[in-house]
Amino acid sequence: MSMISKYVALKNYIPLGLPKETDFEIKTKEIYLDNNNNILVSNLWISVDPYMRARMTERKNYKPPFNIGEEMEGYALGKVKESKDENFNEGDIVFSNFGMRDKFVCKSDDLKKIEPIDIPLQSYLGPLGMTGHTAYIGLFKHGDLKPGQTILVSSAGGSVGSTVCQIAKNIGCKVIASTGSDEKVKWLIDDLKVDYAFNYKKVENLVTYLKEICPDGFDLYFDNVGGDFLESAIFQMKNFGKIIICGRISQMNVTKAGSGLKNMAHVLVKRLTIKGFIIFDHDKDREPFETDMTNWLLEGKIQFKETVYKGIENTPKSFIDLLEGKNIGKMLVKI
Ligand code: NDP
Repeated sequence: MSMISKYVALKNYIPLGLPKETDFEIKTKEIYLDNNNNILVSNLWISVDPYMRARMTERKNYKPPFNIGEEMEGYALGKVKESKDENFNEGDIVFSNFGMRDKFVCKSDDLKKIEPIDIPLQSYLGPLGMTGHTAYIGLFKHGDLKPGQTILVSSAGGSVGSTVCQIAKNIGCKVIASTGSDEKVKWLIDDLKVDYAFNYKKVENLVTYLKEICPDGFDLYFDNVGGDFLESAIFQMKNFGKIIICGRISQMNVTKAGSGLKNMAHVLVKRLTIKGFIIFDHDKDREPFETDMTNWLLEGKIQFKETVYKGIENTPKSFIDLLEGKNIGKMLVKI
């Protein structure tokens, strides 16, 4: 028996600027179980992530461009509706890379079974998923974070950033958080208990502001935004400080190339380490992260906030709104 799958497709590549809803279309196609694709899954939650923006251009990146007119990929949590594979049963909760659609057929290798614990299921797309893993690997494996250090975090009200702030607080660091709205500042201070948070959109001169709020400087800057913010942070790093380049969202939708860092002399004089990383290189590195994060979540030491849009039709809007900072915590679509 065949069924209809509804999915999001890119209509055209978007080389520059902020995507528009008209760059996407909602399409349908017939799907059916066969001997190869013998498991039918209905998606429950879809992850919406900034890295998808890079796949909307034809430029070479760490993942290939999306195919025009075809299903966009992305992480998702779903429920098995029908299975002809002995490893999966109807009702199983599964993680896949078949997001941006309401249902799909696949084979067992495409799925990871989730044994839900006593936390909301969608945490597997947030703190227990790719964004939590990114925070953990960035801080410990690349940043070598130590208790007592002072850390600066940009895009701190988002999914990666809010997890970075909380992990750093959990191990006894001082956390300075930057974000783009007063509501997010309040959440970071009142609930996540960071030491200081500010709305970067209200700061006139970031270089002098960072000096004022943290005169002793930062041991580590967890950079989610790049651009001018990165340049300003470099001025306030301590000698031998580390800068972890996680993302460059401020540069993702620009319409002309930036002029580059103008203060590389500080990198030399302060003997800074600047290190980029991509979480997809760390798939085999999940064990300590999963153990620590599960414990933190069960003990209430990591809080999880989400911004939820409903229905596959709202997925393009959720993505654009993510790039515009309308999310607090993880951006998700509930199917
Ligand atoms: P977020 O939940 O942080 O959402 C994106 C946020 O970026 C927005 O909410 C907005 O918050 C902020 N933003 C948008 N435009 C600008 C701008 N011009 N300047 C400063 N901030 C801006 O997303 P994620 O937590 O999923 O990702 C955070 C970063 O980490 C991204 O750069 C992403 O690409 C990167 N990343 C990297 C990975 C890796 O493997 N290296 C893996 C996963 C994510 P605000 O209100 O603060 O402006």
